[in-house]
Amino acid sequence: MTYDVVILGGGPAGLTAGIYASRARLSTLLIERAMPGGQLMMCENIENFPGYAGGSGIDLSTTMREQAEKFGMETLYAEVERLDLLGIEKVIWTTDKQEIRTKTVIICLGAKPRRLNVPGEAEFLGRGVSYCAVCDGAFFKDKRLVVVGGGDTAVEDSVFLTKYASSVHLVHRRDKLRAQRIIQERALSNPVIKVTWNSIVKRIDGNESVEHVILENVLTKQTTKLPADGVFILVGTEPNTKMLEGQVELDEQGYIITDENMRTNVPGVFAAGDVRRKLLRQIVTACADGAIAATAAEKYIEGSSDLAWQPRSNVI
Ligand code: NAP
Repeated sequence: MTYDVVILGGGPAGLTAGIYASRARLSTLLIERAMPGGQLMMCENIENFPGYAGGSGIDLSTTMREQAEKFGMETLYAEVERLDLLGIEKVIWTTDKQEIRTKTVIICLGAKPRRLNVPGEAEFLGRGVSYCAVCDGAFFKDKRLVVVGGGDTAVEDSVFLTKYASSVHLVHRRDKLRAQRIIQERALSNPVIKVTWNSIVKRIDGNESVEHVILENVLTKQTTKLPADGVFILVGTEPNTKMLEGQVELDEQGYIITDENMRTNVPGVFAAGDVRRKLLRQIVTACADGAIAATAAEKYIEGSSDLAWQPRSNVI
């Protein structure tokens, strides 16, 4: 069988693409290696998705998946090993030796946590080092935590971690946070959170588990030893596009370049969500991308002459 649409990745972009494609009566398969939801699964409390104030990421992604499956979307739990996107018919091979054929592909592979690449980081992973506050925060009841980063995730999750930790030490490499003002205000007014500015982590040390981190002030080059039971590294994300190199056009950071209709440079291949080069990576923009990508895939299959669709002119 040849599917109309295969969606790679089950975060909010992929699930929304699934709702739109299957509701448009296109035969739709979503391939996801784990539980659908993507980074949404790490959101404890969503407050900026319109109409959904205060719910959890798990609940929202479960509802999205059920909604898509109600319209006929199939879900395959498998890991993509390689793909050939360049022909009229696209082919996807999974690590468990399945071969899937499709007219269109919507890439919603999202992004993964960026590493610091410092000594001790890999060694203490799961023994004090974590990349997910919602997943691991509860293991640190009454413990001393270091959070690295200055973006929305690091600053918002610092506040979240005060539910468990005795102290949260936010370490940022500059003297200004990148996070949204409202998120900054909550963290900076929280007495449990202390911020160390202009500093980077040079090393994570311990025995059985993390015991301290070595910080370096980037201005003075002075190092300090900061006792810690856990280190949350929340320094942004990198796109999951390694396997797409040579298949679709990527920017210098590895994000997929699309036009406003989510078209990549390869006919029949679309991208949506955090994997795409864009200004704002949020649940709402991932969902919007997914809806557009599915509609664009439908128009591609129909050979549409819609003016809003032709030609693929303004690739950014
Ligand atoms: P981000 O916005 O890319 O911020 C990454 C932070 O880590 C920056 O402060 C950056 O410092 C720092 N950093 C990067 N590499 C580093 C390194 N090697 N060493 C030390 N520090 C490093 O990433 P994010 O906070 O994970 O957010 C990702 C996206 O999700 C953003 O678009 C964000 O708006 C969105 N998000 C939104 C919400 C919300 O709306 N509630 C919540 C979470 C995430 P510099 O500032 O110096 O570059």
